[in-house]
Amino acid sequence: GKVLVSGANGFIASWVVRNLLEEGFAVRGTARSVEKGAHLQKLFASYGEKFELAVVPDIAQEGAFDEAVRGVDAIEHIASPVHLHAGEPDDLIIPAVRGTVGMLKSAMKYGQSVKRIVMTSSCAAVLQVEPEPKTFSELDWNTQSPREVAEMGRDAPAITKYRASKALAERAAWDFVEEHKADIAWDFVTINPPYVFGPTIHDTPTPESLNDTTKIFHTMLTQPSAPDKLQTGNSWVDVCDLARAHVLVLRTSEAGGERFLISAGPYVWQDWLDAAPYSTEVPLEKGVPGAGKDAAHWLCYDASKAARVLGMTAYRSMAETARDVVADWEARGW
Ligand code: NDP
Repeated sequence: GKVLVSGANGFIASWVVRNLLEEGFAVRGTARSVEKGAHLQKLFASYGEKFELAVVPDIAQEGAFDEAVRGVDAIEHIASPVHLHAGEPDDLIIPAVRGTVGMLKSAMKYGQSVKRIVMTSSCAAVLQVEPEPKTFSELDWNTQSPREVAEMGRDAPAITKYRASKALAERAAWDFVEEHKADIAWDFVTINPPYVFGPTIHDTPTPESLNDTTKIFHTMLTQPSAPDKLQTGNSWVDVCDLARAHVLVLRTSEAGGERFLISAGPYVWQDWLDAAPYSTEVPLEKGVPGAGKDAAHWLCYDASKAARVLGMTAYRSMAETARDVVADWEARGW
């Protein structure tokens, strides 16, 4: 079958495209321009016609995906703005929501062969900041961030604006599916990961060109931090495991209509400093080895549904991911 992947030149999507191609799928990947797709054309050249580029300049435009959805069997909608420097909340919310609903509309109108649409949502659409550490499940919805941006507008913290954009985009998608269920022939699935780390195969010539989450990872491992910062963290998943989940949802019929939390577990930054390999070429921070062991984990996710339904029973460890990322930096001479 052929799969449409939106935002194919991004960090996660380029790994999803690679996994799909390796598993025998044909892929149509979207990027904003031919220039932005050039790196992918090179990266996937060995797959010949199995990889094709489609230019979608702005996912927020009405009908942006009308052409791209034609003739594909499934869609992985991954494009969405990911950055922490929005002024107005709408800088993130409008492209996130319109991009997602627009994809569903285009598929409803022109995606006659589409059987499943997968949205890369986020734990940002699940978590809420609570007074106690908590383990969230697929039943949880972040209504807190949308409420806070409605109240605070541009003064809301940047992370709150991003979380609101993901929560509102996913909510809008499920509402669209519910409203149009009589008119659509495909089913809908979301994958909700926490922070995604791992080596990059998209176009990242310099550390400055990394996407937001891999840049944070690079900064935290190579630059000194205040001791209390090293006691903070979140939950995480390796990009290779996340890409595997994107293939598994296409192969699992019972996945239809479900949300899936895909998480390897919680961390604090000191844990990553402890997990990182000794490197002669990349000077890595040490922090206070072992000092993260008793840290509280505020945001944890129950990934048992993905284990049960998709067979996501094993995840890469912090040591494996840190080893691969540092090897990637070494190979680039960073
Ligand atoms: P990237 O920034 O690497 O990828 C985002 C992609 O979306 C890029 O291809 C970008 O294009 C595209 N995009 C954004 N806005 C638009 C727009 N208005 N029009 C056209 N294309 C657009 O981020 P990630 O790979 O990290 O994220 C991919 C997805 O995964 C997002 O939906 C994100 O919310 C989700 N996610 C990411 C997590 C993480 O830790 N990284 C965690 C949980 C979810 P361009 O490069 O040209 O801007």
